[in-house]
Amino acid sequence: MSLTYLTTCTLCNQRFTVPGLEDLVKTGVGQQQVGKIIQQLSEHVQKKHPKQFAESLIPGLQLSGILRLKHFHSDDPTANQMQEWMRHQIHEMTRNRTVSDEKIREQVHKLGLPELEEPRVSTLIMEMRDIIEERGKFAPKQPGTPATDDNGQPKLDTP
Ligand SMILES: [Zn+2]
Repeated sequence: MSLTYLTTCTLCNQRFTVPGLEDLVKTGVGQQQVGKIIQQLSEHVQKKHPKQFAESLIPGLQLSGILRLKHFHSDDPTANQMQEWMRHQIHEMTRNRTVSDEKIREQVHKLGLPELEEPRVSTLIMEMRDIIEERGKFAPKQPGTPATDDNGQPKLDTP
């Protein structure tokens, strides 16, 4: 017997009873059913939440654009920057976790390091977070936010 689960729209709390996907993904017929479930949920967003539906179309176009343009090399540095920026935007949309500066400082403080080591370790971890999240490179400058270049080296402000 297949399990059923509740899927809840986070925008309006409407609930959908859907079959568990574990068994469905194993067969071709089941995979078609998974497609229908995704279609049903998409239609809900399209009909009930047109603003969010419209917003979802733009990244889809960006992603397909990136996947097509990756097969080209341009001598135009602006074109390359734009492509990199679009890729970064997609990365930002799909990342679901981050760690704040405050949380890093709090965790480092718990290590009980010598007073002078604490800010150095915090900064190192923030820089590593920035590399992984591509923050230092693209994020607007905020006081206290470490900026790093592609190699993770501190980025110097050029006049
Ligand atoms: Zn809804």
